[in-house]
Amino acid sequence: MIQQKLLKQVVIVLISLILVGQVTGETHLDAHVHGEAKMMIVLENNQLFIEIETPAMNVLGYEHPPENKQQQQGLKQAVQTFEQSSQIIKLHGGFCLPHSQNVETPGLEHKADSPYHDHNAHTEFHISYIWTCKNARDLKEIELSLFEHFPGFDMIRAQWIFTRGQGAATLDSKHRLIKVK
Ligand SMILES: [Zn+2]
Repeated sequence: MIQQKLLKQVVIVLISLILVGQVTGETHLDAHVHGEAKMMIVLENNQLFIEIETPAMNVLGYEHPPENKQQQQGLKQAVQTFEQSSQIIKLHGGFCLPHSQNVETPGLEHKADSPYHDHNAHTEFHISYIWTCKNARDLKEIELSLFEHFPGFDMIRAQWIFTRGQGAATLDSKHRLIKVK
């Protein structure tokens, strides 16, 4: 847990360095746009860290707390799918094993009739994964495979920091691969 927190801090620092470098002209980075999501990737020594931030709309088709049994079940299933990293991201090469994963759905836990529930609010899924790789130098590709489970994703803006450098790309159901090597 401590390791995860530490790594998260490292990632936040690295990501903010990237963002500082690109801040001119890029004003939509924090925008919550339905259909779009953000993915941040850091490969540090033998640890791979991936964070995905997405509007709940892309996952559930709505952004309010579940209002009936069917929606409760849908939310539960979506969280369970994201908790299985291999359903969302496939790693080719490097012998990487899942180390930990975390799925947060702030704003979706409150009951629809609770005083905390704001009907106009947007809600998001925040997902983070850590893998430990036996040989990260052999990690060739990162493949995003969430489109099969969640057709509400139109595009994912990915940014990464690898040992060889940093980069960015827009992924969609037809362009799912990030080349690491
Ligand atoms: Zn929204």
